[in-house]
Amino acid sequence: CGIVGYLGEREGLEVVMSGLRRMEYRGYDSAGIAIPVNGHIEWRKRAGRISNLDGDLADDPLPASTVAIGHTRWATHGGPTDANAHPHVSGRVAVVHNGIIENHLALRAELGGEEFTSDTDTEVAAHLLRRELDLGADLVEAMRTVVGRLEGAFTLVAVDAVAPDQVVAARRNSPLVVGVGDGENFLASDVAAFIAYTRDAIELGQDQIVRITRDDVEVVDFDGIPAETRAFHVDWDLEA
Ligand code: GLU
Repeated sequence: CGIVGYLGEREGLEVVMSGLRRMEYRGYDSAGIAIPVNGHIEWRKRAGRISNLDGDLADDPLPASTVAIGHTRWATHGGPTDANAHPHVSGRVAVVHNGIIENHLALRAELGGEEFTSDTDTEVAAHLLRRELDLGADLVEAMRTVVGRLEGAFTLVAVDAVAPDQVVAARRNSPLVVGVGDGENFLASDVAAFIAYTRDAIELGQDQIVRITRDDVEVVDFDGIPAETRAFHVDWDLEA
């Protein structure tokens, strides 16, 4: 399972798909990708090999986008089906998640008015985020509020189609690194996802939220206080 987020000048779909392939060794049962397009989210997701997703993208291409998030899933809640693959989309927001949201049933009960389209623990996070955004929060504030309600382990990455020049992620007991480029930035579970593009990286600590834009990386803790991070340089080589 793995997560990739990209924001920059390249074709986001290509960056994210290549990143997902670089993390295939971690194992997965489904794959998906989301992009913001003109105020709404477009996505493709499929159970099975990444090549199934490639097939969908060939049959029904996504528009060009310099912002994208992608996911390979290792199902924990809900079988490995197309509907349960990530991203999970609620209105203007798309979310990908690695880990387990332990209190998802209580949150699902509370979100009774929402239309659920999967059996995953993850989908509650999409609806909770959208509700905060609809109330006027920006994506970082929304993420802070939502992670405060989640129990368990997660790397969550989200895009907001109404404010698409950012990708926001949160981390608790699940891996997340930032790749720092020039006019572009990356988020991933593993540096392998982005070292074809940059070797400058930042390791996030536990219970931190990061917002990447094209030129900036901002990290806060779950209380919104600017947080300490560790910058490092990746000096090993990719195996072919
Ligand atoms: N718990 C989530 C699911 O079953 C995420 C699994 C993962 O880490 O890929 O969809």
